Amino acid sequence: MEKILISACLLGRPVRYNGSDKASGAADILNLWQEEGRLVPICPEVAVGFPTPRPPAEIQPQEGLNTSSMDGRDVMKGKAIVMEETGGDVSQLYIKAAHDTVALAKKHGCRHAILTDGSPSCGSSFIYDGSFSGVKLSGVGTTTAALRQDGVTVWAETQIRELAALL
Ligand code: SF4
Repeated sequence: MEKILISACLLGRPVRYNGSDKASGAADILNLWQEEGRLVPICPEVAVGFPTPRPPAEIQPQEGLNTSSMDGRDVMKGKAIVMEETGGDVSQLYIKAAHDTVALAKKHGCRHAILTDGSPSCGSSFIYDGSFSGVKLSGVGTTTAALRQDGVTVWAETQIRELAALL
């Protein structure tokens, strides 16, 4: 049976930066998939060593570069950074987390991933603009960027039923 990579916080694991989870509204489908052994849960940030709770982090442009279309793809190319609200540059750990998640997807043969939108790692349609003021920006997180680069289709948690209909 085809396996699906999934953000651990969507399965109710309290691994988000603020110690919360992001339990999904499509629990019926996720419970079924879990019983079937389809799901491969991962929190890319915790897997690479970040503690919970941890400071919030957002993607910001490298000094002097254009801010208009910056997201996880730019971080993976060294054109943007991931900065904690407390001032730490955590880009290298985010890049490692993205590569490690791609390796996990390969290991399990996952062609699809369901990741939590809005996260600097897992976002697939939006992230935050780097100002830590709640402003959303169209774009993707670092792990999503790396998975898509490797041919994995990344879905947001709002698209679980859409993916279920496709499988
Ligand atoms: S959104 Fe991704 S990185 Fe953030 S807690 Fe959930 S699984 Fe971990």
